[in-house]
Amino acid sequence: MDLLERIDKWGRTAPDRLAHASGGRTMSYGQLLRRSEAVAAYLARTLPDDGSPVAVLGHKEPELLAGFLGAVKACHPYVPLDTALPSQRVLRIISAAGARLTLTREGIAALPQAPSLDPARRIGPVDPYYIIFTSGSTGEPKGVVITLGCLTSFVDWMLAEQGLAEGGETFLNQAPFSFDLSVMDLYLSLATGGTLFSITRDDIADPKRLYESLAVSGVTTWVSTPSFAQMCLAEPTFAAPLLPRVRRFLFCGETLPPEVARELLNRFPAAAVWNTYGPTEATVATTSVRVDRAVLARYSPLPVGYPKPDSRVLVMDASGSPAPQGERGEIVIAGPNVSPGYLGRPDLTGQAFYDLDGMRAYRSGDWGYLRDGLLFFEGRMDSQVKLHGYRIELGDVEAHLRALAGVRDAAVLPVYRNGRPESLAAFVVLAERPPGSDFQVGRALRGRLAERLPTYMLPRKFFCLETFPMTANGKVDRRKLAEALP
Ligand code: AMP
Repeated sequence: MDLLERIDKWGRTAPDRLAHASGGRTMSYGQLLRRSEAVAAYLARTLPDDGSPVAVLGHKEPELLAGFLGAVKACHPYVPLDTALPSQRVLRIISAAGARLTLTREGIAALPQAPSLDPARRIGPVDPYYIIFTSGSTGEPKGVVITLGCLTSFVDWMLAEQGLAEGGETFLNQAPFSFDLSVMDLYLSLATGGTLFSITRDDIADPKRLYESLAVSGVTTWVSTPSFAQMCLAEPTFAAPLLPRVRRFLFCGETLPPEVARELLNRFPAAAVWNTYGPTEATVATTSVRVDRAVLARYSPLPVGYPKPDSRVLVMDASGSPAPQGERGEIVIAGPNVSPGYLGRPDLTGQAFYDLDGMRAYRSGDWGYLRDGLLFFEGRMDSQVKLHGYRIELGDVEAHLRALAGVRDAAVLPVYRNGRPESLAAFVVLAERPPGSDFQVGRALRGRLAERLPTYMLPRKFFCLETFPMTANGKVDRRKLAEALP
């Protein structure tokens, strides 16, 4: 049985079981099966059979799941897009993906029921399953192609490692579907006939509402960024009585601070805490480790994990050979979960992906080292940052700032707090400085930038300069600029 068949099985054997709950709306496995068949039939009627991507736009609504599965059933990979993205960015992604059609919640809900498609048309392991767009350093988002084979390798590993019970789990979905962290909760849930419980951006914006939602969620497996759990820990009632069924916390996407893991173990004595690591290009995660008290006592910073059994994680030195144990180098991931590359970008694909002893390999751009068979993450080799779990290329923000009329040049830097990037600061050189303080000028620039970039990519502080300081070799002196930051 492939992944789609495993998911559909629940629609036939347990049609009334809850597949998804989000913002007070629900969808059963029976409804998911019928609606995804309706989507597949509609796409088969409407689009040429060319495997072109289909965009699915919304914010965590249950219909989106039917859009994802329906697209794949009709042999079209889906591109998940969240409505929190500004429309300019959405349009750029749709155009870069070459998507001829965008499914919305309303559109999916309005489709008439349809009989199942001919099963001979199912997608195979090397066919694209989804394409997730991430920040690109030139301002153009990059589409990471993930095949059914990549996804299956990831899902099978997690299911075996976590020993998830069929039909008994409720998974927390915090990340929007446009981020690959959500793939962890979405597909572990669907594959096991579990319930996905989404918290919406309205929930997240209103703490009272958030904790009320969590209290009725019945969550057994928590999947989020460490930042989100850290925010929840600020609330004293965030403890076992609020989530009495929770048995595991799965983290990915950014550094898990030891104090967050320790506090979770204190407040949720019946739960295990796991750190997992990996980029979108290698399907969510490739390494994992259970962070128990022994691991906490032994390592600080925490390890990001052991490689999954069918994959390899190497740390390469500057000459491209494996670095000795304990020595720092670039983390390279090889295995069946590694993407075939970036959609329509053979140039970028060729720079980051290659063949390693017959396995697909990806140069992560992450610094790391191996110790005791465990991988440790040591930051980025380039100017990509993680802000509250969101992946941002500073060059992406800079390119969009420079594209604004009146902006001659721009440099964007992360602002650190307690050793972690907390916000962004932009330094700009303007053709003509308008009247007003840097704060006022910055507010106006931020407003214009918000038409092009999602909120999490907007700099909080702006500094207007006449010129940029230069290094001896003629580059913008970022170290000097950073001196202006708190
Ligand atoms: P994304 O593609 O958005 O998942 O971002 C991938 C990047 O996030 C990785 O290349 C790392 O830089 C960072 N990352 C992912 N997982 C972890 C982790 N457990 N600890 C530290 N950084 C992480």
